[in-house]
Amino acid sequence: MPIYEYQAVNPDDACPSCRHGFEIFQKINEKPLSTCICCGTKVKKIVSLCRAAVIEYSEAHKQVENRIHHYEKSGMWSHAAELADKQSEKTGDKSLKTRALENYNLAGVDSGTLSRHTKPDD
Ligand SMILES: [Zn+2]
Repeated sequence: MPIYEYQAVNPDDACPSCRHGFEIFQKINEKPLSTCICCGTKVKKIVSLCRAAVIEYSEAHKQVENRIHHYEKSGMWSHAAELADKQSEKTGDKSLKTRALENYNLAGVDSGTLSRHTKPDD
């Protein structure tokens, strides 16, 4: 999950936590905050730190991909499938979803039984 940083628009109305900015974990599709969670004053998102969090995030994504690759190399198909499946749901990456299904097949799991978990393509 990326980290976002917010800061009070008007420091005079701010509490100690938002006067200098506070960090919060949010899902990518979560609505940005408009008020401080502590004192309710108006806050704005600080963009530069948000971008840094995105870099961290893709770094973490790469690590997960490496682990999937490692499982595949070791023939641990169900491990690879589960990890790819989870990661694809987290990131919305469709190629990872395909990879998960392929690995489920290799693990001997009938991908037909998984269809109820699969969201239809839009
Ligand atoms: Zn505040």
